[in-house]
Amino acid sequence: MTKKYLTLVNIEHPILHQAERKDLVSVSEDRPGILLERTAAEALRELIRDIGGRERIVPVSGWRSREEQEKIWAETVEEKGLAFAKKYVALPGCSEHETGLAIDLAENAPDIDFICPEFPRTGICQKFREAAPYYGFIERYTKEKESVTGISEEPWHFRYVGTPHSVRITEQGLALEEYVESNDGRVRQDSPCRSSLPGRAFRGMQSISRMHASGKGRI
Ligand SMILES: [Zn+2]
Repeated sequence: MTKKYLTLVNIEHPILHQAERKDLVSVSEDRPGILLERTAAEALRELIRDIGGRERIVPVSGWRSREEQEKIWAETVEEKGLAFAKKYVALPGCSEHETGLAIDLAENAPDIDFICPEFPRTGICQKFREAAPYYGFIERYTKEKESVTGISEEPWHFRYVGTPHSVRITEQGLALEEYVESNDGRVRQDSPCRSSLPGRAFRGMQSISRMHASGKGRI
C-alpha cells in the first residue's frame, strides 16, 4: 500500500498526477470500457463476487480522463443547469474519477441514470455498502458530511482508499478530508500499511457482524 490510495481530491486539492493508462484495468469482463486502478479493480471484483452481487450491481462510471470530465461537466450544465452540476459533478481537475480510484455503481435496472444512479440503502446495494470497508472502499459523499466534502450525498459513489484506512474512516464516521487531515491520516500516509490487516481476512463477514454489534460508527 502506498499513499496514493489516500490521495485527497476535491475543489481545494486538484488532482496533481493523472492516473497512468498502464495502471488501469477493466472492472469486469462485461464492461471492458469501465476502468479502475488495478488494485481497486481487483478489490471491487472480489467484493461484488463475495456478496453475490454479479449481475445485480452494475458499474456505471470509473476512471475518467480530463476530457471526459470536461464533457460531463459541460453537458450536465447545459442539460440540468449550473446549480445541479455543482451539486453532483466535480469540476474538471477536481474529480476523484480522474484518479482511477472512484467508482459509481447502480442497482441493475433497465434505465440507469449516468449522473445519479440508483444505489439504494436496501438489499444487495446495502450489503455492498456494509462490506465495502473490508475491501478498501468507503462511501465517499454522505449526507452527514456534505458541509465537509462540498458535494451532495452520493449513495452510488465509492472511493478506494485501501484497508485498514477504509475500516477506520467508516468506524470513526469521518469524511476522507477529516481523516487525511487528522494526525492519524498523516502518519499512515507516510508509512506503509500493515498488509495483514482486513482485506481478505474479513471475507467471512464475521467481523462485519461484530462491528454492527459494537454499535460503533456508521457503515
Ligand atoms: Zn462518482
